[in-house]
Amino acid sequence: MSETSACIFCQIVAGAAPAHRVYGDENVLIFMDLFPAHPGHTLIIPRAHSENLLETSEADLQAVMTHSKNLAQALYQVFEPDGIAVMQLNGAAAGQTVFHYHMHLIPRIEGEPFGMHGKKRANDDELARQAAALRKAFQLASLSRE
Ligand code: 5GP
Ligand code: ZN
Repeated sequence: MSETSACIFCQIVAGAAPAHRVYGDENVLIFMDLFPAHPGHTLIIPRAHSENLLETSEADLQAVMTHSKNLAQALYQVFEPDGIAVMQLNGAAAGQTVFHYHMHLIPRIEGEPFGMHGKKRANDDELARQAAALRKAFQLASLSRE
């Protein structure tokens, strides 16, 4: 089995595994985290497989950061959080559990204890509704910066 066929995020990129997609282009994909630490927990990944920050190309890192800004704007609009954590883990020792480079965007509420990994699988209907609302807000945020 190749590295990419064993990778759940590569399977999502290929359309072989389901995900609630917010955005996709030739470089990146944005979708809802299946075990959200908070409603609105979203992931941005490069389509190309790389394990971590050091392995990822400059072009993909740049694309992920640009989209993070637009996604953060969309998350503020849709979920009205007090803050947004933009985070990325490298290596099992750092807590990384999926070894395909990705950025987390997690809405945060003042005073709530912080966690990066939710314990409960989210409801699919709810994720679909959230992805649809974010898709619209993300398009507007991206257009406003062109
Ligand atoms: P890491 O711990 O590697 O930084 O984050 C991996 C993230 O991927 C976790 O937040 C986890 O909930 C999420 N995740 C794991 N498997 C799947 C999946 O099949 N689909 C989606 N949408 N998210 C996943
Ligand atoms: Zn992969």
